[in-house]
Amino acid sequence: MEKSIKRIAVFTSGGDAPGMNAAIRAVVRTANYYDLHVFGINRGYEGMINGDLHRLDSRDVANIIHRGGTILKTARSERFKTPEGRRAAYEALQAYDIDACIAIGGDGTLTGAKIFCEEYPQIPFIGIPGTIDNDLFGTDYTIGYDTAVNTAVEAVDRIRDTADSHNRLFFIEVMGRNAGYIALSTAIGGGAEAVLLPEDKLNIEELVTRLNLGAKKKKLFSVVIVAEGFMEGGAQEVARLVNERFDYYDIKVTIIGHLQRGGSPSRLDRLIASRLGFSAVELLLKGERNIMVGIVKNEITGTSFEDAITKSKAVNDELIRMAEILAT
Ligand code: ATP
Repeated sequence: MEKSIKRIAVFTSGGDAPGMNAAIRAVVRTANYYDLHVFGINRGYEGMINGDLHRLDSRDVANIIHRGGTILKTARSERFKTPEGRRAAYEALQAYDIDACIAIGGDGTLTGAKIFCEEYPQIPFIGIPGTIDNDLFGTDYTIGYDTAVNTAVEAVDRIRDTADSHNRLFFIEVMGRNAGYIALSTAIGGGAEAVLLPEDKLNIEELVTRLNLGAKKKKLFSVVIVAEGFMEGGAQEVARLVNERFDYYDIKVTIIGHLQRGGSPSRLDRLIASRLGFSAVELLLKGERNIMVGIVKNEITGTSFEDAITKSKAVNDELIRMAEILAT
């Protein structure tokens, strides 16, 4: 018979994302409400292997909902990718008598959770999507995405002010190695001329054609958003390639970089993180195992780790079409 759940562990892993603290807070307070004991694991899977666990009570998560980063720290653990590392993690969890884990992170974190659960089904996991990339299947939002886009749009607004004062073309690089969600939303919210995505919906030649059209219409400045994972290169390389073919504007490059990860989480990220943390505990207590909790069409859903990791969530072609029309 399956052991009833009395002691759970929670950790954050992979890249940090604003809103992770709100999720930790929701997990701890919901678990306390149901009389569960909660342990925080420092530094993700690396801390799990090292047995770096400590008790967390409701008061320990006071005054963190508005803070960026993660109070539990995060890490990328190569050791957890090995069977020996996962065995050490299992033994550490057993030493603390942990019945279940809640993992907050991106696709790598969920991949690790899936493999661990196959090897050690005695300790079930629930995953919470925490990554600024919004690239996980099975949820409309991941924690941190909204804040990252808000930061990028604010940067675009500021750059527009200076671009407007000169005849300038700005290439602004945003995060997104494999997925163009941040780039597309930033382009729409920032009113950009064009967006270059890892999904390769627009290439340099087409971009130059579009810029020429804008120049003919006497557009005084332009902003183009480049996802870091764009096939033909990041913003620096794109600027170089465009410069070879187009000289109407003075070309400038801005890479927003890690600014997108920091800062106080947006209202939406706090809400999403609270809902996901709360639901993760409730689903665990209802007997759900080895799934990622998500929000689809404003409803809480559960998606198997397998599907969350392997199925792709394509950027919305309708939004791309709209962005093009609105930029004309
Ligand atoms: P982000 O989307 O912000 O990068 P992530 O969760 O995808 O977050 P990763 O560094 O890819 O970040 O993964 C986090 C951790 O998950 C890794 O450092 C590793 O410990 C574990 N992990 C990733 N892939 C595997 C795997 N194939 N087997 C076991 N563990 C893994």
